[in-house]
Amino acid sequence: MSPLTIVGAVVDGEKVGLRCEDGAIATIGPEVAPQPGDEAIDAAGATLVPALVNGHTHAAMTLFRGHGGDLPLMRWLREMVWPVEAKLQADDVYWGTRLACVEMIRTGTARFWDMYWQPEATARAVEDAGLRATIGGPLFDADGRTEEMKAQALADLEALAARGPAIDAALAPHSIYTVSEGLLRWVAETAAERGVAIHIHLSETEHEVEECLAAHGARPAAYLDRLGLLGERTVLAHGVWLDAAELETIAARGATVVTNPVANMKLAVGGAFPYPAARRAGVAVGLGTDGAGSNDSLDLFADLKAFALMQRHANGDPTVLPAAEAWQVATGARAPLLDGGCEPLTPGAPADFLLLRRDAYEIGLGDLASDLVYAAGGSIVDTTVVAGRVLMRGGEVEGAAEVLAQAAERAHSLGLG
Ligand SMILES: [Zn+2]
Repeated sequence: MSPLTIVGAVVDGEKVGLRCEDGAIATIGPEVAPQPGDEAIDAAGATLVPALVNGHTHAAMTLFRGHGGDLPLMRWLREMVWPVEAKLQADDVYWGTRLACVEMIRTGTARFWDMYWQPEATARAVEDAGLRATIGGPLFDADGRTEEMKAQALADLEALAARGPAIDAALAPHSIYTVSEGLLRWVAETAAERGVAIHIHLSETEHEVEECLAAHGARPAAYLDRLGLLGERTVLAHGVWLDAAELETIAARGATVVTNPVANMKLAVGGAFPYPAARRAGVAVGLGTDGAGSNDSLDLFADLKAFALMQRHANGDPTVLPAAEAWQVATGARAPLLDGGCEPLTPGAPADFLLLRRDAYEIGLGDLASDLVYAAGGSIVDTTVVAGRVLMRGGEVEGAAEVLAQAAERAHSLGLG
């Protein structure tokens, strides 16, 4: 792949150029110009911003979008999701994930954290789409299949390790109420041994907290800490019911909480992630969509707006989450695990960025961060670049029609079409 150079992009009102080499930003500044052999793009005054990071999803669940959305959670899982998941083939996961990737590319997400069946098929789809992802197959052993789950998890880790640099592996125990204490301990040990991440749902409903207190005499984060699962490579999805002491522990261990405000509201969990307390404690925070079965969109701009609105509303305070800070959460900049600890749009950082539509009426008059959070949607993205490769230009993603047709066929064959 030849180096990519963008000229005429706008950052903070200044025109800049940006040159990408080997998937990273090599140089950025007013004097940067294409070198012979570069692929060159004239941004013609388009605004340049970092790409977004979706910290929690189940990408292939695009196949379930629009089915059973008005059912209560357990009926939706029992009647709609689990019977279909029992017959999922690798090709279903592949095309469902490709569809998710088209949507993410179109709406400015470069990297995502995924938990779903057939993780190798997810990885293939991510690589073919040109995105990056941290992927783990979900672990459940409520039915007593603990040893089988361990073997599957090790096989998945091996398969994911063999993929290219765009793929990172995670162990993904589904939750504290579907995974035994023994398997959770094994996950902690195995993740530490192999240097892989842990991705788990935590403290999504109040019922989960009550059950955990009754069964283990501790709240969910304290229970996970006892088992050794909280560390710098741990993502906790949801965290709606975390209390101050749990947030202190999570901050001390360096774990990341990914809030999913749209999914939380759709499933009517009845609370809001305690962002102000998390910030006071110094918790790393990211933003996620959750799966398309429970959101139903993968446009992270929508979650960004919901995140900011929910925090203002729940806290009765319009100053609780400044727009610039909300934008940082959506780009992974408030969680080193999500952005790799790199200052975005600087030399050495991954070449993951967006050019916004020059004709977008939603931005340009007021404060950019405020417009991005409250006025814009994913349709504001004109160009998506990931690892120095142009995945969308002028709103067009190559091969999108074929992906849609294949995904529709797979959904139909599962009885979801
Ligand atoms: Zn989830």
